[in-house]
Amino acid sequence: MVRAGVIESVTATAPNGGQLGITVHAVLDSLASPGLSPRLRAFLDERAPATPCLVVDLEVVRTNYRALRAALPEAAIFYAVKANPAPEVVAALVAEGSSFDVASTGEVDLCLAQGASPESLSYGNPIKKAADIAHAHARGVRRFTFDSDGDLANLAEHAPGSQVWCRFLVDAPDSGTPFGRKFGCSPRMALRLLARAADLGLDVRGACFHVGSQHTDPAAWTAGIAQAAWISRGLAEAGVRTTSLNLGGGFPTGYRDPAPPADVHAAAIRAAVAEHFDTAPELVIEPGRAIAATAGVIRAEVVLVSRKDDADEHRWVYLDIGRYSGLAETENEYIAYRLSTRHPATPDGPVIIAGPTCDGDDVIYQHTAYRLPTALRAGDHVDILDAGAYTASYSSVSFNGFPPLPTLFVG
Ligand SMILES: *Cc1c(COP(=O)(O)O)cnc(C)c1O
Repeated sequence: MVRAGVIESVTATAPNGGQLGITVHAVLDSLASPGLSPRLRAFLDERAPATPCLVVDLEVVRTNYRALRAALPEAAIFYAVKANPAPEVVAALVAEGSSFDVASTGEVDLCLAQGASPESLSYGNPIKKAADIAHAHARGVRRFTFDSDGDLANLAEHAPGSQVWCRFLVDAPDSGTPFGRKFGCSPRMALRLLARAADLGLDVRGACFHVGSQHTDPAAWTAGIAQAAWISRGLAEAGVRTTSLNLGGGFPTGYRDPAPPADVHAAAIRAAVAEHFDTAPELVIEPGRAIAATAGVIRAEVVLVSRKDDADEHRWVYLDIGRYSGLAETENEYIAYRLSTRHPATPDGPVIIAGPTCDGDDVIYQHTAYRLPTALRAGDHVDILDAGAYTASYSSVSFNGFPPLPTLFVG
């Protein structure tokens, strides 16, 4: 039985007629949906904003921040701005006392404009230009992360004496949205680079790593913490004392599939630190998703419901939002959002959900089995729940603070 607001598993039939070996969750009935807060619902009902739009409840941002702080009080929180760089979100977190993980000069300036102090900013992107470092340093930023000789040399020159962390690459294959090998060097190289950083007059703080975003396995922290402790011991032997460990982000959000709560991750972190470090380092975490995701709902509209053949069981539901206008994280169907409509959850039927553009890749869910009410029609709203992180920032003209690609014309 499917009850309103309750997620249940059923077996799905694949578009090709075969059985899918994955679970399907009933679509939430919006009348009783636990995912859409009464405040968001009231806002949507009263304002009836044009779609698609993201609506963020700042009270939920504050609640999520406080929950993480309570779960891991020994860690300093640096909100990863890229998850949702809305000035209102940053300002709300400044008021909470949060610090910020920034990745570009645009994000540095954004946070400062919202009242963040330069000391509360950490430039966590190891890929940056010398000019970006100089810009941040001139604005008072003194915390930087690097993972290469080139960036380290630039830091020594353009941010002399700054506090530095070296990012190493931890093996974390289970991340929902993995980073691959783009960031971080081997632990052995991190050890060499941090020793060199000390020689260059930088204030060596320690190692950092990121298990990958939407990491649902609490054990993921263990390997990284063990490797960080190995780096710390090696540095101590070389006469370089480290005092800090930056654990990055990765704290997951429950989308269609539930995720372990923050205190489960906190317990895993605490146990691994106790096991591998003789003296507990000062901990830093850089949550993005865990602070912003559940604060937001995207209201979208059905553009068209159709079938590819009159005999097809599957309907295609085209929304006015897609892969390129906010649902970037549905690439490879990594993130399976919960959906809510005004119709009762049943009767329902299998659907393939797609975006509105003329791009063949702009299909949101075709392998992940979704069901939507059979009553769903063009013009109906579909609410995409827990969509406050990595949506507007991907579709906005300035993801991560990098300005949009300019268009040039010839002739
Ligand atoms: C993106 C990012 C984060 C935030 O990751 P979440 O999975 O959203 O918590 C933290 N630190 C760094 C360096 C990042 O690039």
